[in-house]
Amino acid sequence: MYWVLQLLEEKMRDNLLFGPPGSGKGTQSPIIKDEYCLCHLATGDMLRAAVAAKTPLGVKAKEAMDKGELVSDDLVVGIIDEAMKKPSCQKGFILDGFPRTVVQAQKLDEMLQKQGVKVDKVLNFAIDDAILEERITGRWIHPSSGRTYHTKFSPPKVLGVDDVTGEPLIQRKDDTAAVLKSRLEAFHKQTEPVIDYYSKKGLVANLHAEKPPKEVTVEVEKVLS
Ligand code: ADP
Ligand code: AMP
Repeated sequence: MYWVLQLLEEKMRDNLLFGPPGSGKGTQSPIIKDEYCLCHLATGDMLRAAVAAKTPLGVKAKEAMDKGELVSDDLVVGIIDEAMKKPSCQKGFILDGFPRTVVQAQKLDEMLQKQGVKVDKVLNFAIDDAILEERITGRWIHPSSGRTYHTKFSPPKVLGVDDVTGEPLIQRKDDTAAVLKSRLEAFHKQTEPVIDYYSKKGLVANLHAEKPPKEVTVEVEKVLS
C-alpha cells in the first residue's frame, strides 16, 4: 500500500500555463513551482536571457521579440528540449509561454512521448484584452529571479527596487502599448488554436484571470489538487 502511495506521489506533473501577455502566468508560476516542487520553464525568460548575453540564439530571436512577433518554432523547441533535461525538472515542470503554436504543441507531445510522459493539465488564464494594457505597461520585473511587480496592483516596498534583494527592477522593452498590440495579434492568430488542440484532449481548465491574484491562486490550487 505504501508503495502504491509513493508511486502516486512521485508521478510526474507536466502542466502548461496558457494565456495572453499580462494574464498572470508569471505571477502564479512561483506559487505552483514551490508547492509541487516543479521546475518553471518560461520560454520568454530564457529568450530574454539569451538576448542579454548576445548568444547566437539571442541574436536570432531579438528582432522578432522587439516587434512582438513569435520567434521560429525550431528555436524555441530546441531550448525547451534542452531545458527539460535539467535535474530540477525530473519531478515535472510548468511550461509558461510554450507551446505557442500548434506545431510547438505537436513537437512537445513527441518530446514527452520519448520520455514516457504527457501533459497533465493546461491552465487557461482567460481574460479580456481590454484589461491587459494597464497590466503590461505597469509591470516591473526583477530579471534574475523573475519576480514580478506592478505599480498599482502589486507595488514593491520601495519604488523600482526588488523587495528581496534590494536590486533594481526593470521594465521590459516590449511592455509598451504599441508592442502589446502585435503580441495580442500573434496570440489570437497563432496561439489560440493551441487551446483547441488541448481542449480536444480534455486537458483544459479555464481560470478567471481578471480576478485579484490571490483569488486566481485559489482557482489554480483547485485545478491542481
Ligand atoms: P504574464 O506572465 O502572463 O505575462 P504577469 O504574471 O507578469 O503576466 O502579470 C502581468 C502584470 O500584471 C504584472 O505586473 C503583475 O504584477 C500583474 N498581475 C498579475 N496577476 C494579476 C491580477 N490577478 N490582478 C492584477 N494584476 C495582476
Ligand atoms: P513572454 O515573456 O512569454 O511574453 O514572451 C516574450 C517574447 O518572446 C514573445 O513576444 C516572443 O517573441 C518570444 N517567445 C516566447 N515564447 C515563445 C514561443 N513559445 N514561441 C515563439 N516565440 C516565443
